[in-house]
Amino acid sequence: MQVFKFGGASVKDAESIKNVAHIMANYKKDELLVVVSAMGKTTDRLSEVAQHYVDQTGQAFTYLEEVKAWHQDILAHLFHDPAHPIFDEIANCFVEVEWVLEEEPQDSYDYLYDQIVSTGEMVSSKILAAYAKHKGIPVKWVDARDYILTDNTYREAVVDWEKTEEKIRRDLPAVLDDFVIVTQGFIGSTSENFTTTLGREGSDYSAAIFASCLNAEDITIWKDVPGVLNADPKWFDHTELIPELSYTDAIELTYYGATVIHPKTIKPLQNKKIALNVRSFVNPAATGTFIRSTNQGLPVPSFIFKVNQVFVNIQPRDFSFIVEDNLSHIFNLFHSNRIKINMMHNSAISFCVAIDDTGKNIDTLLEELEKRYKVSVEKGLELITIRYFNQETIDRVLVNKQIIRELKDSYTCQLLVKKI
Ligand code: ASP
Ligand code: MG
Repeated sequence: MQVFKFGGASVKDAESIKNVAHIMANYKKDELLVVVSAMGKTTDRLSEVAQHYVDQTGQAFTYLEEVKAWHQDILAHLFHDPAHPIFDEIANCFVEVEWVLEEEPQDSYDYLYDQIVSTGEMVSSKILAAYAKHKGIPVKWVDARDYILTDNTYREAVVDWEKTEEKIRRDLPAVLDDFVIVTQGFIGSTSENFTTTLGREGSDYSAAIFASCLNAEDITIWKDVPGVLNADPKWFDHTELIPELSYTDAIELTYYGATVIHPKTIKPLQNKKIALNVRSFVNPAATGTFIRSTNQGLPVPSFIFKVNQVFVNIQPRDFSFIVEDNLSHIFNLFHSNRIKINMMHNSAISFCVAIDDTGKNIDTLLEELEKRYKVSVEKGLELITIRYFNQETIDRVLVNKQIIRELKDSYTCQLLVKKI
């Protein structure tokens, strides 16, 4: 069987949904499960609703109204019969959010965020399923929350693989005999049936979970780019498509920040040797990139750029060395503030990192660090990672840049730099 994943950009308006249904009809080799993200920028819009609700600004309903109207407009372009049941189904999804908004917020922000934001995937999957059915594809809509079981770390839920696998294996193979399954990315559920989300851009990961549990032959992530490129076209005029990539290189590239695939996606696929194809929904005939088990290194050096980096240099106040107990204390602070380290380096008396500038939680982290360490901070930096680097590639990215820190191993070079 195959798994297809369609992200927000592939379902951003009525025409795009028609295109996705067309791809589903054309490329269905055998059994097919389709994972879909929220449409366009819906997740961002719904997180604004959640923020206004928690802050009680009085604007949450207005923001929700916009999301609703935008979806209704798309529906009107897809279904010409106003009596089609999909209109009511989508209205009902939004009514559930309104029920939440009517109450005073009692629960944590993370919990409320998941209850509100998950609506984006609920409505996109219902709309896609209804439209594909309308076009004659035998579709069954499946609620991913009945299958992806997680703990209760809202906004970054951890999957219970054993339970998830058991449920998926029990029910879904029989459904796949007769139907194309359409389900949601990004969302799951706790054992108490509360909705959770798997972290931003987590739909790729959902697709990998379904693929792994169903022992899929392959999985295809349909993107608005031709496949995995050696750099983000935002940064380079001339990028190259990488036709084949090993699991290891794919994991390394996403770990260092290549945004083409969610970093958690590859490992479960590698474990089961399931190939991952990244290809374009704009040009579905092109083959894109295959990620699979191969000894082939990257054909060209690959570049990953991260802007808005903060360099934090941490030194013990009591002149002690940076050793295990300091390090474990420091790592715990990063973990509890949910801050991911993009680059790190330690010497005898200092530990330094580069992290994304995510605002509030960094200020909390710095305050906590300052209780025990001397901390210096530099903001507005850029982190450039080059996989399969050589001197020429380093020179290429260092034009008008000053190096703050440089780290190299045999394959990867990380440069934390400042514009000059
Ligand atoms: N809709 C979610 C997000 O935008 C999940 C995804 O797109 O993968 O983060
Ligand atoms: Mg997305």
